[in-house]
Amino acid sequence: MTAGIVNAHTHLYSGLAPFGMPTPAIAPTSFVQILERIWWRLDRALDAASLAASAELYVAEAVAAGCAGLIDHHESPTFIDGSLDVLADACARFGMPAVLCYGATERNRGRAEAAAGLAECARFARANQRPGVRPAVGLHASFTVSDETIAEAAALARTLGSVLHVHVAEDGADVADARARGYAGVIDRLARHGALVAGSIFAHGVHLTRAEVAACADAGVWLVQNPRSNRGNQVGYPAALAASPRVALGTDGYPAAMADEQAALVELAAAHGDDPARVAARPGAGALLLAERFGGPVAPPDAAAVARATAALPEVRARAREVAPALWARMAAL
Ligand SMILES: [Zn+2]
Repeated sequence: MTAGIVNAHTHLYSGLAPFGMPTPAIAPTSFVQILERIWWRLDRALDAASLAASAELYVAEAVAAGCAGLIDHHESPTFIDGSLDVLADACARFGMPAVLCYGATERNRGRAEAAAGLAECARFARANQRPGVRPAVGLHASFTVSDETIAEAAALARTLGSVLHVHVAEDGADVADARARGYAGVIDRLARHGALVAGSIFAHGVHLTRAEVAACADAGVWLVQNPRSNRGNQVGYPAALAASPRVALGTDGYPAAMADEQAALVELAAAHGDDPARVAARPGAGALLLAERFGGPVAPPDAAAVARATAALPEVRARAREVAPALWARMAAL
């Protein structure tokens, strides 16, 4: 157990995946197919009950593992309105500091879907009273939204005094999409629509150039490296992140056992010739990122919270086991 590391990019909605999530009938052979055949089917199958069970399991295990905070990126396209309260309740129940957003996208229902996602971010930011939870404004990734949605999300973040949380250049497909739309790349597209909001969280950056990463740093934007996810999805190693000191560590849906993520980071950094001292600074950056959103240093779950989470895990796991089969059945029917 490594106490005190913030998980700076994850997905609480994937918490039930270890409880028998079916593998796709036809194995994916690209990153976009992994999204289409696995995660974009899981997120459409989520309802309030399965999301609550998933989040409670993910958060309780994170507290028990010593994780110091969670920065979540959420999507449940058939249950948008109120979804962030489900996640916030799970975080509050277990005393886990968290930053929550809904990742607006147009991939299922176009602009109306994006509007509903941004409306959920705005609703939650204005209504949330839980002291341990802070809001952000989410976009799924630039390749699943229009220019108008990017501009609206950026404007909303500024109006709320908040930040954006978005997947950026995780795979080459995101970069190719931005270029096909006439931009130099993903950062150029986001910048032209006002989306380099200071304090924002850009997950991955695997296919950014050093100049793009430096531009993010200059704008006060954080990047988040997700070593196990990047390795699992075979999207590459984010070598250009070396151009910024504002790079935190995330698990991208893998359990928030940060010691495991850190071990993967050390191993992959060595294999790709990355500077060990530089990657060792990722956890410290994550703490600063969380402190920015809370307006000061954030205490990790205390011993009582850890004891409570550990005591609750049998009940939480039993609930996950109970809810998961119906979720898999809905997923299979999509
Ligand atoms: Zn992610």
